[in-house]
Order: sequence, then structure tokens, then C-alpha cells
Amino acid sequence: MSEDDLCFDADHIWHPYTSMQNRYQMFPVVSAEGVQLTLNDGRQLIDGMASWWSVIHGYNHPKLNEAIQQQLGLMAHVMFGGLTHKPAIELARKLIAISPEPLQQVFFSDSGSVAVEVAIKMALQYQQATGNTQKRRLLTVKRGYHGDTFSAMSVCDPEQGMHTLFQGGLPKQLFAPAPQSPFKGAWQPEELTAVKQLFEQQHAEIAAFIIEPIVQGAGGMRFYASEYLAEIRKLCNQYQVLLIADEIATGFGRTGKLFACEHAGVAPDILCLGKALTGGYMSFAATLCSDEVSQAISKDGVLMHGPTFMANPLACSVANASVDLLLAQNWSSTIASIEQELIKGLAPCSSLPQVADVRVLGAIGVVELQQPVDMHRVQPMFVEQGIWVRPFGKLVYVMPPYIISKEQLALLCQGICNVITRLGG
Ligand SMILES: *Cc1c(COP(=O)(O)O)cnc(C)c1O
Repeated sequence: MSEDDLCFDADHIWHPYTSMQNRYQMFPVVSAEGVQLTLNDGRQLIDGMASWWSVIHGYNHPKLNEAIQQQLGLMAHVMFGGLTHKPAIELARKLIAISPEPLQQVFFSDSGSVAVEVAIKMALQYQQATGNTQKRRLLTVKRGYHGDTFSAMSVCDPEQGMHTLFQGGLPKQLFAPAPQSPFKGAWQPEELTAVKQLFEQQHAEIAAFIIEPIVQGAGGMRFYASEYLAEIRKLCNQYQVLLIADEIATGFGRTGKLFACEHAGVAPDILCLGKALTGGYMSFAATLCSDEVSQAISKDGVLMHGPTFMANPLACSVANASVDLLLAQNWSSTIASIEQELIKGLAPCSSLPQVADVRVLGAIGVVELQQPVDMHRVQPMFVEQGIWVRPFGKLVYVMPPYIISKEQLALLCQGICNVITRLGG
């Protein structure tokens, strides 16, 4: 990549949430192997982001490469309307086997946001089909994040999200306060008062409750009490509201359980998976639902969705290999030891005056600062430390690939502490 290439990029290519005028520096990456990204100038960075939660087995993994290559020799893609194939069948079998028991049907799509759209359609169609024609809205909590498409945006945090920008274009949903009791700490049942009231007063128009189980990701990296989720499950049952669990970030072991719902011992009616589904190789997602939901929708109708690249065989194959790879190892002890290393490695940050909170759950480490960070200033500082960390707002956080070594984790945490120290109080 030449200087000219980078100028072209700056002039012509959108990156996530960027302006085409005030562009921050982009770091050109040429290859990635294991936990390391190699930049154009030869520098190697330890990746603390796993490319946004997804690259759980590391980059350039021989087993994942092989799965794609084998499938490539058979067919890269084929439409899913009227046709089916082994990689999709195999993957659906696996997902049904490992996800909570009531989930029995799988819809494959291209990205997490679309998986959420599909989940919402399933909920609305279910309520229509069961005669609850007034149940057309969604209830959720503040500080959530569910994606960038329109219905998904409508259930993102209304203050930090994009609600003001797209006002009028978004369906009006109902918001309960964000869960307050922390995951590791005392459960405060009083915090349910507001959400109970919403169920009580508005249930006649609520089709589903959508939530990220245990970890609110891009809306604030908050870890909340499992009791909260368990109580929401009960309220949903009481008021004929479906529970949609968005495990796009938390699925596949990240929080120490295969799915974060398991911390609360609850099963959703609809489950969204994405991100780590293919080990970070391809854009792919799945929405699972219960027999009850699928039968109601299917009795006199069809589920109204069908993307062009539905169940792409390459994506299904690499997802099969990724899930196999995860289940074949003692992933739970891997996550437990990453958790211990993150607790140890990030501890020095907690005494800094510019730090508001340090928290760790499974393979997720978060340092919350008192003030929002200036990305323009801070991103090159992380790169100088030999680590790839991309903060947002007040949050400096990591969720590394599961294959990260103790030494690499120590370097990652040290680099974070160094940068935050240098930011000053
Ligand atoms: C990332 C994410 C999404 C959106 O997934 P995309 O693949 O980016 O569309 C939805 N929900 C949660 C919880 C996520 O973390």
C-alpha cells in the first residue's frame, strides 16, 4: 500500500462511523496471523479486539482455512430458495444442539443487524398469527445496541444511539431503564419496578422484549445481574411477550458460558447469533426460534424474509469448523484463565485518577474513564505500544482472541495501562 493508496482511501472509502472530511489516520494492515496484525510498515500489533468480538480462534487458522478451501472446490454459493446443502444442514444441527433447548428452527442471514431484523419480524408475525394483533411494539432497556439497520436502530439506546438523527423514520419502541445491579455484586430487586410497570401498563401492545443477555456491548460495555434476566423471562411469560436474546456479541463462550443466557438459566424464544459464528472469517448470522414461534408463523403464512446470500455455503462451512474447534477444546477453562489474567493485568489502572471503573467478565476487559477519549490522539498511542485497541467514548476495552497467550495478554494490559497513565488525570 502506497501513500497514494491511503489518500485514495481517505477520499473515497467510508469506514465505520466516519466523516469523509475529518478523517482520522487509518492503519494499513497487510496480513494477520494468530493474535497478531501486521501493518504495511512491518510493525506487529497484538489484537485486543478480535476484530469486534469475532476472531475467537485467531487469524489465518489452518482448520478454518481448510474448511473454506474444501467448500470452495464444491461451490462458493448457491441460492437457498428451493435448494439446500450439507453445510447449512450440518450447521443448523449444531446450533440447535448447543443452544438452549426450546430453540429448534434456524434462519441464516448475512449480518448481525439482519439477524435482529429477522428476530423482530418473527416476533411481530408470531403475535399477528396468534391473534394478538395489537402487539406490534418492542420493549427493551436503555444502553443497548442491536445493530445499524432501521428496526435494530429503533431498539438501540435512545440517547447515545441514532434516534435523534433518524427521528420519525424509526418505529417508536418502549425503553426501560438500563439494568443497574452489577453482574458481580448485590442484586437489587427494587430496580425492577420501572420495567414491571411498563409490562403491566403496555403489555397489550408489546410483541417482544429484546436484550443483550448479561453484557450490554457497544451501548456501554456493562455487565448486569443474572437475576435481572431471569425476572424479565418471568415477566415475558406472564404477559405473552416473546423474549429475544441478542447474543451476537456474547455467544460462543465470550462471557464464560457458551451463551450468556445460561448465567441466568433462561432460554429465550428467539436467539440472534453472529460475530464469532464463523470465527470472524465471513459476514454471517443466524436467528433461532422455538417450535411455538415457528409453528404459529407457519400455520397460515410464511416468514417474510429471504436474503440473496442466505446460508452461503462458504460461511456455513467455516462456521461449522469454528464451532467444532471451539467445542473440541476446554474453552471454559481457557476463558477462565483469560479472565484471571485480565483482572491481574488491568488492576494497576484502577488506582489512576482518570479511571472511573475497571471490570472484567470472561474474556472481556473494560477500563471506563472519567472523560471520553480523543480517538485521534489515543489510537496511535496504542499502536506505539504494539497493541490494537479501539476505544469508544469513555471506554477502553478488549475482547481478545481465545488463543492469546499469557505473555501476549500481559503485554496487551500493560500497553493499555501505559496509554491511560499517559493520558493524565
Ligand atoms: C455487533 C452487534 C450487532 C450487529 O451486528 P452486525 O454484524 O454489525 O450487523 C447486533 N447486536 C449486537 C449485540 C452486536 O454486538
